[in-house]
Amino acid sequence: MSKGKFKIKLHTKIVIGLILGILFGSYFHIDQKRLEIKSKTGEAEVNEWSSFQFLKKDSIIKSFNNDDQLIILKYFNGIKDASLKKELKIKVEKAGASPQIFEDIKEVSKVKTIGVLLKPVGDIFIRLLNMIAVPLVLASLIVGAASLSDVKHIAKIGGKTLGFYALTAVLAIAIGLTFANIIQPGHIMSPDAKQRLLDAYQDDAKTKIDQNVSLNITEFLVNIVPKNPFKAIADGDFLQIVFFAILTGIFLTQINKEKSREVISFFEGISDAMILLVEKVMHIAPYAVFTLIAATVAEFGFGIVKTLLWYSLTVIAGLTVLTFVEYPLLLKLFTKVKIKDFFVVQKQVLAVAFSTSSSAATLPVTMDVCEKKLGVPNKIASFVLPLGTTVNMDGTALYQAVAAMFIAQVYGFDLNLSQQLTIVLTAALAAVGTAPVPGVGLIMLIIVLRSVGIPEEGIALIIGVDRLLDMCRTIPNVLADSLACVVIASSEKELGKINLSESE
Ligand code: ASP
Repeated sequence: MSKGKFKIKLHTKIVIGLILGILFGSYFHIDQKRLEIKSKTGEAEVNEWSSFQFLKKDSIIKSFNNDDQLIILKYFNGIKDASLKKELKIKVEKAGASPQIFEDIKEVSKVKTIGVLLKPVGDIFIRLLNMIAVPLVLASLIVGAASLSDVKHIAKIGGKTLGFYALTAVLAIAIGLTFANIIQPGHIMSPDAKQRLLDAYQDDAKTKIDQNVSLNITEFLVNIVPKNPFKAIADGDFLQIVFFAILTGIFLTQINKEKSREVISFFEGISDAMILLVEKVMHIAPYAVFTLIAATVAEFGFGIVKTLLWYSLTVIAGLTVLTFVEYPLLLKLFTKVKIKDFFVVQKQVLAVAFSTSSSAATLPVTMDVCEKKLGVPNKIASFVLPLGTTVNMDGTALYQAVAAMFIAQVYGFDLNLSQQLTIVLTAALAAVGTAPVPGVGLIMLIIVLRSVGIPEEGIALIIGVDRLLDMCRTIPNVLADSLACVVIASSEKELGKINLSESE
């Protein structure tokens, strides 16, 4: 009996890592009723307090109760006045014990557990993927464009790609709006819960609003042209890199063959090396996914999911229909690829997207899967995927539509049809402007809110569950890119055979 028979396949290991991460993180979760206080007299842990008071000259200036860990931290960290901080005392009262007083407080923090301490392994994994993404996109797109050889062909593929992305985004938003109208999650929230969320997250919301995002289409188009391609590479600006790489690829075919051959084979070498590197990096994926998920679960206050249960369920229901109904339908409509096969080969992509919450970090894995397993030629994958990673965010667009409706409902706004159509347009554009990294979808949501006059500070209501929903929305964000690759390749009659064996 061969030893290899018992080898666990990589994607199975990743799924095991994910499940164990959830269990480990929930077991070693950060206690929501425990805090660490560093003061003049050293470090001390307090827990299960009945009241937690901040005093100045022995008079109470702020008092919190047992459920207020987050607000206590925000309150303390929000005090910028150093002299006030120095004067401040903390009095912690606990049933059946004498009160504890802390003076000259240096720091108040959550008590970390082993659940979050392993996270650096996951951070290294994300950094490795990000490290690979830029050279991979640049090199493979130069090679891809050079092999497409004529501008018309590139324009045709570009047009189809953007058309497909626009179609999936509008459908995604329509799904989001439908669910938000049927479930009406904002009408289920109590005024008390609303006030608590606003109190807890108003500072975070303000930091995001202060970033002053705006959406200017002309500026967006102008910015696609890099002033300095090396800066674009250094900044990881995918659209600028795509623009530069395509032009370089095209013009490499217009010069003397002897000169261009060496340049093209140089970039071919880089591209191959990067793909090989992704495959090697994926060997640490099970451990990295484990630590990333464990840290998120350990840190996440699941109490807030209860408060935002209907909102979270509305977003997740929309994302589920998008991923498991809309995408399979489009796959069936535009290609001959079997739905099951398409999803089977995506396992690694989905696990990486979910645990990193970043389409950019997932890009090298998506590229590898599209070329090696789905049979998409390099010239198509290397064009469609970086473009999709940057502009195509169906999950984010759907989430922004639901979030806007939710906040409007909580604030008592009834959005009419034309306002909801405005949401379709602005959410589609805001998703295009969303950078493929964690949490940016929430910032770009401000544009959608502004477009229909919903109070921007309403984002405070949903910040608490954003990380969880970000993980979920990143899945369709990356899946739609693979789908587009297969659809475009098959419309160009260039789709190779699906390779299931490598995914097994
Ligand atoms: N995390 C998402 C992505 O990378 C973007 C977002 O919605 O915040 O695709």
